[in-house]
Amino acid sequence: MKYSLLILSGLLIFSCGSHEETPIKSSPNIIFIMSDDHAEKAISTYGHSLLQTPNIDRIAQDGARFENSFVTNSICAPSRAVLLTGKYSHLNGLRDNRDQFDGSQQTFPKLLQAAGYKTGLVGKWHLKTTPTGFDYWNILIGQGDYYNPRMIEMGDSTLLEGYTTDLITDIALDFLKEQSKDTAFCLLLHHKAPHRNWMPPPRYFNLFKDKEIPLPDNFYDNYSGRRAAKEQDMRIDDMFLSLDMKLHPGSYKIPSGSGGGPPGFTDKLAWENAYGRMTGDQKATWDAHYNLINAEYRTSNLSGKALSEWKYRRYMEDYLGSVAAIDDNIGRVLDYLESAGYTENTIIVYTSDQGFYLGEHGWYDKRFMYEESLSMPLLMKYPGVIPPGTINKEIVLNLDFAPTLLDYAGINIPSDMQGRSLKGLLNGSSATDWRTSMYYEYFEYPHGWHNVKQHYGIRTTQYKLIHFYNDIDVWELYDLTKDIKEMNNLYNHPDYAGIKEDLHRELVTLRGTYKVQNP
Ligand code: CA
Repeated sequence: MKYSLLILSGLLIFSCGSHEETPIKSSPNIIFIMSDDHAEKAISTYGHSLLQTPNIDRIAQDGARFENSFVTNSICAPSRAVLLTGKYSHLNGLRDNRDQFDGSQQTFPKLLQAAGYKTGLVGKWHLKTTPTGFDYWNILIGQGDYYNPRMIEMGDSTLLEGYTTDLITDIALDFLKEQSKDTAFCLLLHHKAPHRNWMPPPRYFNLFKDKEIPLPDNFYDNYSGRRAAKEQDMRIDDMFLSLDMKLHPGSYKIPSGSGGGPPGFTDKLAWENAYGRMTGDQKATWDAHYNLINAEYRTSNLSGKALSEWKYRRYMEDYLGSVAAIDDNIGRVLDYLESAGYTENTIIVYTSDQGFYLGEHGWYDKRFMYEESLSMPLLMKYPGVIPPGTINKEIVLNLDFAPTLLDYAGINIPSDMQGRSLKGLLNGSSATDWRTSMYYEYFEYPHGWHNVKQHYGIRTTQYKLIHFYNDIDVWELYDLTKDIKEMNNLYNHPDYAGIKEDLHRELVTLRGTYKVQNP
């Protein structure tokens, strides 16, 4: 009964939004929270048990969880450019992390601002050029740091002291507290965590002590039939021993891994920057915990699979501890919004710029069109409009964020945006004419990190077709209903000849639709 009333209330808000008797203004406030590299597997509402994320889960309980939400280019800066523009990387101009964003182009914050919204941006930006379209911005430099970050507030640089996930939330709450109830606002709250190098706050150092962290069953993948997967440089086995494993330089007997880094990048210098920026007290707290791990490593003389699995566990403890800090900080934001009365007319989105490997195929990082990094968590609440507990299984994309938020704000969606509004999927009725396939592209090769070949492809509800190109010419085809872990490339399997033909035809269609010129 309560549910029906909520829906009715939502419809009334939209149909009577301009009437004076409507208790709230028609344009909803928007809080768009995006973390960095947060895999669905590390969110409990997605049905996984690696850790509990009760606060992130609140958004899904009060609204919608998307189960087939995908990124169109699985790497940090390009994903952010797609979010802002609603256009694929090949059109918005930011194809890989080396490019810089053309801030003179159309973005959804600019359109919201022009319609009277107060717009804010806090946290990771990573697009190299100065943010445009924001009344207030306070951003990390580049990837940012986990402790004592230097931030740029409207052009002025400040060195802050503390844990970055907490500090970003403090700044976001300050922005929210300054907003007037008479003007709609849109805040982009972008966390640095849980991006590499996964440094948790002391309160979560021991969160996983004595707890099992299961090893993915394809951790020891041999990449048979998948040349691009075999030739990458993003295996947990090859992680840096200092930056990633938190062993002090000089304390280990075996060489540090390649870390997937470009020429000139050194583990020692990277760690000295991350650790060296801590205060004396922070270092003492850090060392009190991590020196025990350093000692364990030195005395255990691990090798082979035992060493691989020790590295996996070290990685996961730090990654999940960093996620736990995001979750409690999202609780702070949700609690504030509720206490300040921002309930009925406020959209809250939680997502990540892409997914991440948590040991599947033996990997960390992202980039590949395979499921773990193609998937991006997406939770959205809008009380009175999105029914609580909604679970949506349609194929939705980060390309859709800009059109969706503009649509909810009552602003016309520009015809050159390539995504679609999700509003029609979330109003309680079933979707008609929704997409049944998505297009993907990845460009950062041979320069940059991790040696992942350039590729493009399509994913349908059941199949995936990928073309790796540049210095190779390899196709892969997966039947996701039988092989969701994508271990068995069926491209040359005779039983799939007809399906392959259909997928190639669909690929050509999508490339035409999205104006892909090359490759
Ligand atoms: Ca990222």
